[in-house]
Amino acid sequence: MSGSNGGAARANGVRRPAERLDHEELVVRRGRRTGLYVVVAVHSTALGPALGGARLWRYRAPGDAIADALRLSEAMTLKAAAAGLDLGGGKAVLCSEGELADGRRRELMLDLGDVVESLGGRYITAEDVGTGTEDMAAIRERTSYVAGLPLALGGSGDPSPLTARGVEMAIRACCERRFRSRDLSGRRVCVVGLGHVGTRLAERLLAADAEVIAADIDPGKRRLAARLGAAWTDADSAMTTACDVLAPCALGGAIHRDNLHSLRCEIVCGSANNMLAEGRLAEQLASRGIVYAPDFIANAGGLINVYAEIHGLDGARTARLVDGIGETIAVILAEAEERSTTPLRAARQLAAERLGATRRHHQPAAA
Ligand code: NAD
Repeated sequence: MSGSNGGAARANGVRRPAERLDHEELVVRRGRRTGLYVVVAVHSTALGPALGGARLWRYRAPGDAIADALRLSEAMTLKAAAAGLDLGGGKAVLCSEGELADGRRRELMLDLGDVVESLGGRYITAEDVGTGTEDMAAIRERTSYVAGLPLALGGSGDPSPLTARGVEMAIRACCERRFRSRDLSGRRVCVVGLGHVGTRLAERLLAADAEVIAADIDPGKRRLAARLGAAWTDADSAMTTACDVLAPCALGGAIHRDNLHSLRCEIVCGSANNMLAEGRLAEQLASRGIVYAPDFIANAGGLINVYAEIHGLDGARTARLVDGIGETIAVILAEAEERSTTPLRAARQLAAERLGATRRHHQPAAA
């Protein structure tokens, strides 16, 4: 089996997954209707039902999909724990065979719905890369353990506005640490990726009187940038633009070994998942004096959006949770400085402490 994160290894001639397995459950099932593989990994339910989106992707082999589900579900446990949510971590992965005709896509969602239902509420699914609110509506026909439904069905709809709000709070916390002020007026922020989150983030920053430089690999987004009042730079030079804040809002791996030393920013804080190609780059950012907001904390607004849907939270309570992202980043940055560690390690430590405290709480008293 080989994973998209690099890895399978051979031991005594037997291929084995490189991933550490401390997951509670792994279900691999061929859909009854489509014959396509549906994979659900439940990493932890220590804090609550495992929540994580359903990713529809074309994998080279089912083993790659399993590796992805294992890795992503673990990341969801950390994200929920660090955000202070009573949720565990899980992930569903659907192995697509390429472009799916509408009918077949619906059947695949029904297949996923059956798997989710069979887990009896230990896993709740939602949107992720390749799936959307309409897919969630189809899954709803087979199970009630689904969130991220369309607004018309009582769901929370597009999570991007809350994700952008959380990233803004994280940027403010980083500015407080770096410049001793949360004020964004006059700060130069480079938003790389003018998609759902990047556009809303740019709007929020401009409303706070920041100077925004936007970039996207889609040259058509240049008009959007002009309409917003943002300056434009091409995607190739965006990552190395001189700015106060670099906000990667496109795909993972935006910061890698080859561009890290060319970064000309004081702060890295954006929405992109897994924005560091390797975790150890956090150390290099720290040694260059660049403040880094771990992505799984900064972009938790999307998860909070779904959490609010599940728990029926009102707008004010949801907004307070999202604004708490800024406070969490502030705590992490302070911890990192105090313990001479990186913000990434401090963030993982915070999540681990919350999980550890819960495990201790649930342990039977010694006789
Ligand atoms: P999106 O697909 O709407 O936008 C991504 C944008 O990035 C697109 O406009 C694309 O053209 C552009 N892009 C791709 N590669 C690029 C590159 N190399 N340089 C510059 N631009 C590039 O996605 P989104 O929903 O806005 O999500 C953005 C990131 O935030 C993703 O990593 C996603 O996983 C993460 N995220 C999103 C949410 C959410 O609420 N949507 C929540 C948490 C995390």
